[in-house]
Amino acid sequence: MIRGRFAPTPSGQLHLGNARTALLAWLQARKAGGRFIMRMEDIDKPRSRPHLAAEILDDLRWLGLDWDEGPDVGGPHAPYTQSEREEFYQAALAQLQARGYLYPCYCSRAEIMAIASAPHGLAEEGPAYPGTCRRLDPAALAERAARGKEPSLRFALPDRAVAFQDLLAGEQRFPAGAGGDFVIKRADGIIGYQLAVVVDDALMQITDVLRGWDLLDSTPRQLLLYQALGYPAPRFAHVPLLFGPDNTRLSKRHGAVTLAGIRAAGTAPEVVVGHLAHISGLLDRPEPVRPADLVAVFDLDRIPREPVVLSEALLASLSGEH
Ligand code: GLU
Repeated sequence: MIRGRFAPTPSGQLHLGNARTALLAWLQARKAGGRFIMRMEDIDKPRSRPHLAAEILDDLRWLGLDWDEGPDVGGPHAPYTQSEREEFYQAALAQLQARGYLYPCYCSRAEIMAIASAPHGLAEEGPAYPGTCRRLDPAALAERAARGKEPSLRFALPDRAVAFQDLLAGEQRFPAGAGGDFVIKRADGIIGYQLAVVVDDALMQITDVLRGWDLLDSTPRQLLLYQALGYPAPRFAHVPLLFGPDNTRLSKRHGAVTLAGIRAAGTAPEVVVGHLAHISGLLDRPEPVRPADLVAVFDLDRIPREPVVLSEALLASLSGEH
């Protein structure tokens, strides 16, 4: 049984890129006669807004998507909201700790940023963590701990490359140490995205993860966590991102790119879905359709392997300018 999912973070409104990912993930599950699971990723509570979570679900329904399990419909793996799943993350954390995968890190962000020679980590993180605290001897560790500052907990990367086959991005190989030892639990006590997403996908028995290209470089970390926790890993498909007409990553500057903005402009959901299907290689022309009309034509092989540049005309049509 195929189980796909969409896992939005309620820290911003749903935009075209997220809507497209949700549509493709939904199509992948529906085409396979599988189940589609919705999960709200509000693990980073300070950055999450409850009203956005409700708005995101409403936008997805407006688009014509549905889900078999989720925060508002329940299901056998409830709860489907990360802030209510702390016990599962703590259990996994304890397991990792018992198996010796983690070490405390006392470095501040400023200290890490100051290490000029650090190779690049994940795009949104800045430099890769150079492993300073991993190499502390017991005395130095005790001295750091005695200062009273809560450490974060990092996963010690093994000394080997991680390779996997991405259904869209193809063969991937990340060299040993790529991205640096990553945070499992932050100094403020918040569980990191990498652990939460793996625990959730594993416990919710997700077989297929289709998500944005920006998470491709998180995948080796997640594969290491699946192994460390003894879970089978799902298949991955990372969809190339959407760009504005000026070749920069889609943002507010490009006009009505949030579903809220598009809805406010009076655009019909079928028009949005038609454009998303067209840029995803599923329709020859951007004619209005419902998601259900696309199940028959959906095929991962049709999705372009390059980022899609949206035209001015497309953005204008979504903004209600005809
Ligand atoms: N919550 C993540 C995001 O909105 C997605 C996580 C995932 O798909 O693995 O970027």
